[in-house]
Amino acid sequence: MLKFCNVDFKYDNDLKPLIEDLNFHVNKGEFVSIIGPSGCGKSTIFRLICSLEKAFGGDVFVNGSNINKLKGYIGYMPQKDLLIPWRTISQNASLPMEVGGKTSKEAKKKAEEYLDVFGLDKYKDKYPKDLSGGMKQRVSFIRTLLTGSELMLLDEPFSALDAITKISMQEWLLTQWSTLKKTIVFITHDVEEALFLSNRIFVVSEKPITKLKEVTVPIGYPRNRHMLNKTEILNIKEELVNELKQRIEL
Ligand code: ADP
Repeated sequence: MLKFCNVDFKYDNDLKPLIEDLNFHVNKGEFVSIIGPSGCGKSTIFRLICSLEKAFGGDVFVNGSNINKLKGYIGYMPQKDLLIPWRTISQNASLPMEVGGKTSKEAKKKAEEYLDVFGLDKYKDKYPKDLSGGMKQRVSFIRTLLTGSELMLLDEPFSALDAITKISMQEWLLTQWSTLKKTIVFITHDVEEALFLSNRIFVVSEKPITKLKEVTVPIGYPRNRHMLNKTEILNIKEELVNELKQRIEL
């Protein structure tokens, strides 16, 4: 579904590359998290996948196509919900379809179907200011979904939420993922969040990023929080926290 082949990248004003000869792949239907300290280049990986930045070496493939030749959009959900304050919830959710060329009437109809499915139909004519943080992130997720992309890139989507809302959003996300059968790549700082959600975790262990250390989470789905208390999961958690503590110096 997603493949990085020998990718090199450097920001224009930097002397050194941020990414050097990077290879990794994510399989169709997988849930993969990327963890690493702030500023190590996680969001840049997403920017490369969305063609917001261009690699100066190597290739990025999505669903077998080189991203330079990819038609359509990739679903990208940023850290802040970035809902447009003067558009209603329904108009916000319909935005990617309008950008993709659908008439506003068609886009609104489809967006409202989705808001209905996700239990947000009561809010369709409200504005972002009228919704709680968790609800705004649900709308942002629906908007990302309505790009129609099979691959969804979620960049720390729950980091600004309070602890309880965050837990319920993680459970909600796992339910959506298992129903929708999308491929999700999820950036987080939170080791426990990565363990609860993912099939595999990629740890950014070097700067420049030349490889991602890969950890497979040895529990199946459906998941519940008690599973995080298994000894093997606690050992992996300890290992990941130690790894990140060392990398904070990067
Ligand atoms: P992370 O997501 O891991 O916090 P980023 O990918 O956002 O890291 O940033 C990696 C590095 O690249 C940081 O040092 C950051 O300052 C720099 N950077 C990010 N975006 C830009 C940009 N548009 N132009 C120049 N440098 C950038």
